[in-house]
Amino acid sequence: MSLKVATTIDQVREAVGRARQAGRKVGFVPTMGALHAGHLSLIRAARVDCSFVVVSLFVNPTQFAPGEDYQKYPRTLDADVQACRREQVDLVFAPAADVMYGGEPVTTVHVAGLTDVLCGLDRPGHFDGVITVVAKLFNIVQPDAAYFGQKDAQQAVVIKRMAAELFFPIEIAVCPTVREDDGLAMSSRNAYLTSDQRAQAAVLYAALKAAAERVARGERSAAALVERITADLEAAGPCKIDYVSVVDPETLQPVDRVAAPTLVAVAVRIGSTRLIDNLLVDAARAVGKNGGAQPTGEAP
Ligand code: AMP
Repeated sequence: MSLKVATTIDQVREAVGRARQAGRKVGFVPTMGALHAGHLSLIRAARVDCSFVVVSLFVNPTQFAPGEDYQKYPRTLDADVQACRREQVDLVFAPAADVMYGGEPVTTVHVAGLTDVLCGLDRPGHFDGVITVVAKLFNIVQPDAAYFGQKDAQQAVVIKRMAAELFFPIEIAVCPTVREDDGLAMSSRNAYLTSDQRAQAAVLYAALKAAAERVARGERSAAALVERITADLEAAGPCKIDYVSVVDPETLQPVDRVAAPTLVAVAVRIGSTRLIDNLLVDAARAVGKNGGAQPTGEAP
């Protein structure tokens, strides 16, 4: 079947309605476009589980604070549609902002607590924008399953909670982080980096991996991990560290000691580009057969 590109809610409802009548399972991958291999991995995961795959391409204005990169965020609609075609996506939804936010809306979906930590501290209002647009998109597409990346670990936790509490009958899948050869997590924002900054940016994953290896060798102190990751990040070049945190992967609250699966998360500004990354480490599974670290939540 050929790819359809919808720009209105009615077009989406009609196409998804027809797929549903034909008994197809609907999978949904929300994105802001500028598609890279990380996005494609979500589309492929959806393709495996579902017989009708919908991808949204929408740079959501409400999740950017004034002064953030909304204006300069990469917009590559034609290339994104081509990529979706190659990946055998069935429907692309690429709405204009007034389709999503016409009529001066006054409704916001807010998830308390989980959004007050990590990226929520540095980007006030960001998660309200994300959660509200995802709730709108869920209501428009009404998928059976929706696919998100572990790269944005906090986002995935918050969306799971919102979907559960608002009774969206949608299975939420969280897929491993896809990385460049040097370990840098793929991100549309990597395009902002100069070549020196791009080389420096590899330190995020290197520092996280070194932390996972320390856990494998028996380190359990969150403070010691934070101190070492901070030192590694600072040693790589000029940067501003928004946070280095060791937290419970469900509650996102800081832990003192690594025990059960623990999320180690960082947010760093290199120049004006804000990069995030994370690794799940697990003391119980820390030492593999070869004595190496066994980080989870990672692409092979
Ligand atoms: P974005 O377009 O940045 O809003 O991302 C759309 C979806 O792709 C989100 O669920 C992200 O977590 C996911 N994503 C972004 N980068 C990656 C990556 N490197 N690996 C896996 N998923 C990713």
